Amino acid sequence: MCEHHPTLPPAAAPEPHSALGRRALLGLLGASVVGGLGGCAVPGATAPGPEASSGLSAGPGQPTLSVLTVDGLDSTVPNDLRRPGRRPKRTYVSDFRLPPVQGGMAPVLTRVLTKQPVVFLTIDDGVTKIPRMAQLLDEYDYPASLFLTRNFVQNDPGFFKQFEAQGSLVENHTVSHNVNMSRQLSYGQQLAEIAGMQDYAQQQFGRRPTLFRPPGGDYSNAMRQAVAAAGMKAIVTWEAKANAGRMDYQYGNSLRPGDIVLMHFRPEFAADLAAFREAQLSAGLDVVLLENFLGVA
Ligand SMILES: [Zn+2]
Repeated sequence: MCEHHPTLPPAAAPEPHSALGRRALLGLLGASVVGGLGGCAVPGATAPGPEASSGLSAGPGQPTLSVLTVDGLDSTVPNDLRRPGRRPKRTYVSDFRLPPVQGGMAPVLTRVLTKQPVVFLTIDDGVTKIPRMAQLLDEYDYPASLFLTRNFVQNDPGFFKQFEAQGSLVENHTVSHNVNMSRQLSYGQQLAEIAGMQDYAQQQFGRRPTLFRPPGGDYSNAMRQAVAAAGMKAIVTWEAKANAGRMDYQYGNSLRPGDIVLMHFRPEFAADLAAFREAQLSAGLDVVLLENFLGVA
């Protein structure tokens, strides 16, 4: 397994309660075959594209195929494995190689160019904290990248630890959420906004974020340098969002493989998540953790 193509672990299944359940689970695990291990992309000289471009090119590797057969599962598994959204997940081998920091600047990712049927959920800010939010993500079994702002979450960081326990990760969305930071703040001030959240995340969640999302989405070369200087791997924006109970697309009218979807911790979280779920299911995509697919978890 090459280091930049980690295999996403299948979701943990609840303990079966009967011998039949155990046999069914063993059968399921026996059918879990990850194919395409030889399909790791050859590291290439992929350079970050111009800032105006949408998305970065994947390396010149072949798409890889991953297989986890779950056919017939519904008739053999105990009821507690058949909760909505709780089916065993397929395993995907990433066919995308995140470009490295070049010229001191972190790459910018607006979507992931992949042939795998995957989509990535990202949830920002952290102002609104309602217990039902964690329950919904758990019911749907959605891992998400949480781009949190220190000043929005520091009154209750424990709220977000629940999401981490479910498989989500906390990423960096600055200390104070200045949507004009790329235009108004000096390099040093931007670095302070970014590094301050790195330290806070480390202290509260035990991990230094690897991904950065600019408040409002605007970025600059100075910001790309500050993100790299703070030790992170990429700036992550989006081309699709779930907002006010509906999906908005910058391109087309449905989700595409590799889309990075923006949501927020807002009062309309349930409606937004329902809109996302409908789009995700109708597009035939699985929700996987962006950090795992990029190899930066
Ligand atoms: Zn934000």
